[in-house]
Amino acid sequence: METTKANERIFLASPHMSDEGYELQYVQEAFDTNWIAPLGKNVNEFEKELANKVGSKSAAALSSGTGAIHLALRAAGVGEGDIVFCPTLTFSATANPIIYQNATPVFIDSNYETWNMCPKALEQAFEKYPEVKAVIVVHLYGLSADMDKVMEVCKKHNVVVIEDAAESLGGYYKGQQTGTFGDYGIFSFNGNKIITTSGGGMLVSNNEERIAKVRFWATQSRDQARHYQHSELGFNYRMSNVVAGIGRGQLKVLEERVEKKKYIFEYYKRELGELEGVKFMPVNEWDEPNFWLSSMTLSGKVTPIEVMEALEKENIESRPIWKPMHMQPFFEKYDFVGSDVSEKLFEKGVCLPSDTKMTDEDLARVVEIIKGFWLS
Ligand SMILES: *Cc1c(COP(=O)(O)O)cnc(C)c1O
Repeated sequence: METTKANERIFLASPHMSDEGYELQYVQEAFDTNWIAPLGKNVNEFEKELANKVGSKSAAALSSGTGAIHLALRAAGVGEGDIVFCPTLTFSATANPIIYQNATPVFIDSNYETWNMCPKALEQAFEKYPEVKAVIVVHLYGLSADMDKVMEVCKKHNVVVIEDAAESLGGYYKGQQTGTFGDYGIFSFNGNKIITTSGGGMLVSNNEERIAKVRFWATQSRDQARHYQHSELGFNYRMSNVVAGIGRGQLKVLEERVEKKKYIFEYYKRELGELEGVKFMPVNEWDEPNFWLSSMTLSGKVTPIEVMEALEKENIESRPIWKPMHMQPFFEKYDFVGSDVSEKLFEKGVCLPSDTKMTDEDLARVVEIIKGFWLS
């Protein structure tokens, strides 16, 4: 393939602003009205627009998804010594805020059916730790967890549920958006997510009073008083009005991005899915993922490391599946409930480049390199 783009880097997932320039229009408006900071119209509108889009009553725009998880834990009343169940197969940002609150994570295994939290392991964890305060559920790579089963177990034990939907904005479980099943849901607009504001997050909930409280905490917990008065610990976690402008523009192209991510996944699956030992991430009949990252496992003669190295040699980015939290030096002292599913997914998994700016030629380049292992 001797095209001029033959050696241009192909990214796993990179920022993709709208062709129409929506983002700049909102940012321009912020400049024109000098609402660079603090807060302002873009923040208020972005909260409303996102809440409407996902079907939640209210939302708080924050500086990151991690901050959103942190304040969700505070809103759930999680504090020192409390136990929080957390999937082991996730990015560390899901688990870190549990530590910020001086609480104790207990890591839960995945199942092969969803790659997400295993309802059976969750049930076992409840037997071991009936005093658990909250459960965080993650929708990895845009695949939804089995929410009916997870929620059934959680309701039985009357526990607060926080959904980490950082990777699954625009994805549905049985027709309902991920992030809206639990008491709280969080989204991320970090640079590699399906839509981005360069950095940012959102906390959604149907409990408007708790969301108001989150906004209060996120702006340094300033009491209603003429002077600076504080009766609670505060945080500087609010999203800026400039950043929110980018978010409002990006929200307009969310469906378009999901469509392209799905196209990428289907392309890979069609071209690579029949190769011996290749298995693509599971798409259940009740799941309409956003296909954030197309991922597969390799269990035959070809190893993930070989594939990732071959792609890197051609200037193409790929990466392993998240390394489970219970295997991380920082987190290994905490308890883990389950078997070896997450560990196996980590050992065998590869995330393929899923950048929405990829052309068919780019996809063909990736496929050709990977297929090469089966031809030799
Ligand atoms: C990206 C991500 C986060 C953190 O979001 P930030 O906005 O980067 O703080 C949390 N959880 C998961 C699963 C993520 O992928």
